[in-house]
Amino acid sequence: MLGCLSAINISGQTQSFAEPRVVTPGTGTAAPSDAIVLFDGKDFSQWESTKGGEVKWRLEGGAMFVVGKTGNIQTKQSFGDCQLHIEWRTPDVVEGEGQGRGNSGIFFQKKYELQVLDSYDNKTYFDGQAGSIYTQNPPLVNVCRKPGEWQVYDVVYMAPRFNADGKVEIPARITVFQNGVLIQNNFVIKGTTYDKTTGYVAHHKMPLELQDHGNPTGFRNIWIREL
Ligand code: MG
Repeated sequence: MLGCLSAINISGQTQSFAEPRVVTPGTGTAAPSDAIVLFDGKDFSQWESTKGGEVKWRLEGGAMFVVGKTGNIQTKQSFGDCQLHIEWRTPDVVEGEGQGRGNSGIFFQKKYELQVLDSYDNKTYFDGQAGSIYTQNPPLVNVCRKPGEWQVYDVVYMAPRFNADGKVEIPARITVFQNGVLIQNNFVIKGTTYDKTTGYVAHHKMPLELQDHGNPTGFRNIWIREL
């Protein structure tokens, strides 16, 4: 077959592989050539309010900032398995405590929240601090930068698979690096993170959602690769 090579695996069997596609890497943290750029600092063209209509968040200096009470926002496009790069910043003026300090969040498929919070010298329940899968799993370590400093999440998210009867067959899994450090290692998500009693409800591809928790947390340089 054209573009295929054979190799012997460790069991002694011959396997064929398609030739890996060529992807041009970005410079630094810029998007690679096969990524969908969700936010490059210029506009909200890839986003909409979850209430419907335009995003009411603020654009400033190549970043977007939550404007409290305008509501969550979501991508216009839906996604399943993906690699996500997203940079975030909690306010440099520290206000509030616990869950009230720099709270936002990244909801994969609108259901499974990777927490965004100012967890620099700010105690809260461990499965609710920055880098947690909200109410399900704390981060492996707290590698948060100081308030006002930009931080990075690099995520590999594998969507759940459902049987024809709607029951979950393979739960979702998530691996997260924060500022280059592993904080979620292939964690098996237990279901929706906003209601422990819900568990899984069957769904297909869904948008990526960012949370308005009333704090002016910022995001920039967001890109995604469908896997
Ligand atoms: Mg949150």
